[in-house]
Amino acid sequence: MVAQREWLEKDYYQILGIPLSVTDKEITRAYRKLAKQYHPDANPGSEDRFKEITAAYDVLGDAGKRKEYDEVRRLGAVGFGQGGAGGPGGATFRIDDLGDLGDLFGGLGGVFGGRRGRASGPRRGSDVETELHLSFQDAVRGVTTSVHVAGEARCETCGGLGAAPGTSPVTCTTCHGTGALEDNQGLFSLSRICPTCAGRGTVVEKPCATCRGSGVIRRTREVKVRIPAGVEDGQRIRVKGRGAPGRANGPAGDLYVVAHVGTHPFFGRRGKNLTLNVPVTFAEAVLGTTITVPTLDDPVTLRVPPGTASGQTFRVKGRGVPGTGRRGGDLLVTVEVAVPKKLNQAQRAAVESLARVSDEAPREHLGVTGR
Ligand SMILES: [Zn+2]
Ligand SMILES: [Zn+2]
Repeated sequence: MVAQREWLEKDYYQILGIPLSVTDKEITRAYRKLAKQYHPDANPGSEDRFKEITAAYDVLGDAGKRKEYDEVRRLGAVGFGQGGAGGPGGATFRIDDLGDLGDLFGGLGGVFGGRRGRASGPRRGSDVETELHLSFQDAVRGVTTSVHVAGEARCETCGGLGAAPGTSPVTCTTCHGTGALEDNQGLFSLSRICPTCAGRGTVVEKPCATCRGSGVIRRTREVKVRIPAGVEDGQRIRVKGRGAPGRANGPAGDLYVVAHVGTHPFFGRRGKNLTLNVPVTFAEAVLGTTITVPTLDDPVTLRVPPGTASGQTFRVKGRGVPGTGRRGGDLLVTVEVAVPKKLNQAQRAAVESLARVSDEAPREHLGVTGR
């Protein structure tokens, strides 16, 4: 355990001033140079530094020990939070290597839990949002259209599998396709992500050149979306599984389409209902009439009963947002009595005679009488 702790704490590569990818020969060369420089005989007072260099070379200079050291550093980095020490081996790490390390990890398994290594398992793709402008009519009736989504998309060359065309991913031999490994460590039985396949369960032997094996590229793709009837301005419509593709066989994210609904020259919307203001003359309102009103489909006739007040609303059933029962809407027609700005002589005379015969007292309830 002492050796392990020391290994985790000391960066021998840094001590020798060499990169993690260094060859065995280069390690020896670096060591010889430093040993000469810091040898206590030639450089009194540098004993500690010389000891450090020698200790580093004792491990890194031995191919077997170096491999063990690399693994301890790599796996321990997670638990110790030592950023940057996660390097050597990386993608080339194979689980077989753990065979040599059985004892080393006997006491560490509990500490490091299942969080060892940098391999990440299947990851869900992120959700993506896009905007869609709809005409008033399309929003009311619903429409199937396409939106363009820029960003991560499934690689078309390999169909998202990451394997070069003509090849396909093979079952991972380390985990036999399960993507997980069981570590039996006495009291602890830990399941962790298979480092060989990063939890995919499969391994790509010949990566796709287009996406370099990730199965994902950046491009603009077209997504067909079905906009339901009655979508409101600003409403977010979820299109399941059409967001960014997942990684390592993870599921795709969702696509959210934000609808922007245009206006109509004379129809309005109130939820599932359409609204329409229809002017009528004073005579029509007083005497009653039948008028023709437009709908989003064919015009309909509407009976305006005698004595209809300005602002009164009539319901034309089933002419709002399509749908049966509660899902559908109606057309709400509001009658407005149009007051003419100008009258010709005959019209003026007629209105004046109406005023003479009128016995109405419309403001009586306000507690005032007369003019
Ligand atoms: Zn590809
Ligand atoms: Zn595997």
